[in-house]
Amino acid sequence: MSTPTTSRPTTTASATQADDAHRHFDGVDLQALAQRIGTPLHAYSASAIHQRIGELQAALTGLDATICFAVKANPNLAILQLMANAGVGADIVSVGELRRALNAGMPAERIVFSGVGKSTDEIAGALSVGIMRFNVESLDELHTLQRVAQAQEVTARAAVRINPDVDAQTHAKISTGKSENKFGVSIDEARRWFAERSQLTHVQLDGLHVHIGSQILSVEPFRLALQRVAAFWRELEQAGHPVNSIDVGGGLGVCYRAGVDQPVAAADYVGAIREALAGFRGRLLLEPGRYLVAEAGVLLTRVIRVKPGIERTFLVLDAAMNDLQRPSLYDAWHDIVPVADERRPLATYDIVGPVCETGDTFARARELPECAAGDLLLIKATGAYGTSMASTYNSRPLAAEVLLQRGRYAVVRRRQHFEDMIAGEQPARNWETP
Ligand SMILES: *Cc1c(COP(=O)(O)O)cnc(C)c1O
Repeated sequence: MSTPTTSRPTTTASATQADDAHRHFDGVDLQALAQRIGTPLHAYSASAIHQRIGELQAALTGLDATICFAVKANPNLAILQLMANAGVGADIVSVGELRRALNAGMPAERIVFSGVGKSTDEIAGALSVGIMRFNVESLDELHTLQRVAQAQEVTARAAVRINPDVDAQTHAKISTGKSENKFGVSIDEARRWFAERSQLTHVQLDGLHVHIGSQILSVEPFRLALQRVAAFWRELEQAGHPVNSIDVGGGLGVCYRAGVDQPVAAADYVGAIREALAGFRGRLLLEPGRYLVAEAGVLLTRVIRVKPGIERTFLVLDAAMNDLQRPSLYDAWHDIVPVADERRPLATYDIVGPVCETGDTFARARELPECAAGDLLLIKATGAYGTSMASTYNSRPLAAEVLLQRGRYAVVRRRQHFEDMIAGEQPARNWETP
């Protein structure tokens, strides 16, 4: 967890320090916080997010680079505001995300729009506020963009999303850069777009975009994809098609499993970009999501009960797959630790939520200090694709979210009220024909 060292005492012995690291997060006492706000509770460390932004910005020194945070990783307005204040823009995939980004104070000229299914209305909405760039994923979308821009009498700026056919060596459900995936177009197709560029009277097609997947833990897939993009950029320049921006996407992995996951350092990642795109004079765009926020988030949850079974013992938490879907969706591992001071013998548990699905399992056969009802646990690295994928399945209200910073907290989303959950629903009273 990337809590800055300033929030930890520096003089205690290492054993107690390990415990204390779980007792405090960004200087905030987690027992007291859980007591105050209740559980399940998503907590984000502002300091940890700032640290990640800082690392990436430092690595990018000297480059004409814009970081566009992938909003889908964590769309909370307070998080987006923090990003905006740090000079970070947004990578959006819907008009809902566009509105969040603008609402949080992100300037339109730092917003890029990705996704295979942008509707005509969404394209029109984004164009009318003057976003920086559309990452176009199909010829049909390119033609729609041309039509909409013509109607608005403006020129849209566009990049073609290249599918470089590279294996990101990540989970199949988060791989996006192989030719069998729905994303982007082949270099052959992109070449034809540029060749016919002059027909695009209202689209300035002068950018390349690539995003090969998520939770990538090796620099090689990035290098390979960027080399293909770079070769294409050089070819386009030779053919008289200037490339003014290259968007390298997101995908940088993080540590979900201490001692096993070894993420690529920002400096090494940017080093690979510098190398592959040597000589490129345009603007570089980056779209990190997970890297900026995952390890800055924890999910605080209490043990409802310990349920001994025939083959295993279940630890039933008050958090469930509706609060954090990654384990049930991707079999993702999250480190889980007790927020407790005393030392206890280890026990082995299947850690589950209360939702009526066998898939509502956070961990199987996990070793943990012995737990009892009421104990507070921490599910780590939940800051990305946690709340953004949350649902109210089983009519469970969306959990509260707090932002932490150097010993203080601010509620950035109150726990959902039952009335919020059913808002918009109504009895079938007024029957009509369409
Ligand atoms: C999801 C997504 C990202 C962010 O991916 P991370 O793995 O969270 O960094 C960036 N760009 C595009 C186009 C995406 O779809």
